[in-house]
Amino acid sequence: MTDLIKAHLDHRRSWQAFDYCYPVISRRSRGLSLGVNLNPDQACNFDCVYCEVDRTVPPRRRDLDLDQLERELAVLLELAGSGEIYDAPPFDSARPEQRRLNDIAFSGDGEPTTAATFAEAVARVANLKAARGLSAVKLVLITDATRLQAPEVVQGLDTLMANQGEIWAKLDAGTEPYYREICRSKVPFQRVLDNLLATARRWPTIIQTLFLEWQGQGPTTAEVEAYCDRLQAILDGGGTLAGIQLYTVARPTPEAAARPLPRTALEAAAAHIRQRMPNVPLEVFPGPEQWP
Ligand code: SF4
Repeated sequence: MTDLIKAHLDHRRSWQAFDYCYPVISRRSRGLSLGVNLNPDQACNFDCVYCEVDRTVPPRRRDLDLDQLERELAVLLELAGSGEIYDAPPFDSARPEQRRLNDIAFSGDGEPTTAATFAEAVARVANLKAARGLSAVKLVLITDATRLQAPEVVQGLDTLMANQGEIWAKLDAGTEPYYREICRSKVPFQRVLDNLLATARRWPTIIQTLFLEWQGQGPTTAEVEAYCDRLQAILDGGGTLAGIQLYTVARPTPEAAARPLPRTALEAAAAHIRQRMPNVPLEVFPGPEQWP
């Protein structure tokens, strides 16, 4: 295994003694991403079969202390700005072109928009970024899209999008049964779709899609077709899709039956999507060639 692969695989959401903020070299960011975990309690309204969070292990803490979060992020911004962060493993194995701070991402051990202080957290992080003149650094929200129309979430999105924001919203299925099988959520699929449409009408939205082999089976052609229908409905409804990120499982997860979709199957799904949505940029992130 090369050092570079090690850097990608090392996505542990902890950094030294920090509770909320963590640096990663991210394939999808093509550089350094500073993660902000608003769910130290591991709360999520999805229970994805491929989730990397091991909820059998009790969390280190459950409360969200925004003052501490700000302090942690300030330290990481300092280390990223000085370049010192690249002296320590696994970041010392990052390629030269990856040694740039691309974004600060709300992503962690649960769904960020379920945090009661989501809007305040976004405002504080945006202020910290602006105070340092980091206008080239994006603010990314990685979300399961279930709460995108809640008023307090919309307030946070307003701040996010006024500060070089990007919304990366999950859509892993085209049909309700497959959504229930993979995401295992009580939230109706239609609510997710309604939220995606309302959000994409207001701001260009990036769709994040994980296709995997679950219990030995990838998504069927009919499922991928239905998924394309859902995206087309967003476009037909006046939404703007800034892109699609199609990826698969990249690291071992607590559920052994969740495995990467083989590269050929992922590429076939990508070709299907490109053919149906030729005007939406699609990026594909295959899984590892070898799986432990
Ligand atoms: S939405 Fe994210 S944190 Fe929640 S269960 Fe799915 S993968 Fe895990």
